[in-house]
Amino acid sequence: MTRRIFAANWKMHNGPSDAREFARSFLKLYARRSGRSIYIFPPAASLAVLSEELRDRPDIQVGVQNIHWEDKGAFTGETSASIARDAGARVALVGHSERRHVFGETDEQTALKCAAAVRAGLTPMLCVGELLEEREAGSTEDVVVRQLRAALKDLEPESALSAMIAYEPVWAIGTGRTATPRDASTVHAAIRRELQELLGDKAAKLPILYGGNVNKGNVAELLAADHVDGVLVGGASLEASGWAAIAGTE
Ligand code: PEP
Repeated sequence: MTRRIFAANWKMHNGPSDAREFARSFLKLYARRSGRSIYIFPPAASLAVLSEELRDRPDIQVGVQNIHWEDKGAFTGETSASIARDAGARVALVGHSERRHVFGETDEQTALKCAAAVRAGLTPMLCVGELLEEREAGSTEDVVVRQLRAALKDLEPESALSAMIAYEPVWAIGTGRTATPRDASTVHAAIRRELQELLGDKAAKLPILYGGNVNKGNVAELLAADHVDGVLVGGASLEASGWAAIAGTE
């Protein structure tokens, strides 16, 4: 059976009260389906409330949007992977384009964060994706392959094999523009080839999600594309009813 992954990135929306309300509504609207996993990445302050509300639903896991690469220390305002885990996170988003391009995070820092996630027992969901000018210059595959290699280089093969990858073209995030299913499929195939080169045949099972303006209207055709194992959704995941419609896509 095909495994489908639906991941919600709330960015800086839905504090603890809204997260609680969201969870209660979502649980009424979304029944567990076999072969399907849901991940929700709330702001760090909502992790504990959300994971508590979802404690009886192992098919819905909570993740942290960002972690620091150190395990502890004088890093005011930061969240370590182990603190996130203690608050209920089981997955960590690493290398999101807003971290790379708004906060200036480098490939090296992304690699350190993947390693920190694994040390704390969190599964990294590694985001890769090209800028519009990189796409127009024909360097999409070079960019995503560089980002993949850099981020996974310090992980043991076993840890890398338990990661998830999200391909998110930067020009499609929060812009209303979406890659066509064919575009997504082409880049996912390149990611799959690179993963198999790095990690061998077992990498065939590593999930590759597409993200960038996914919504109710386009999710089915994106999921039908070859090599697309799931979706990572920002804006369209903020309301429980809209997210339940997306997460219930056949
Ligand atoms: C994201 O934040 O990862 C994302 C894909 O956002 P949006 O769906 O709003 O484009």
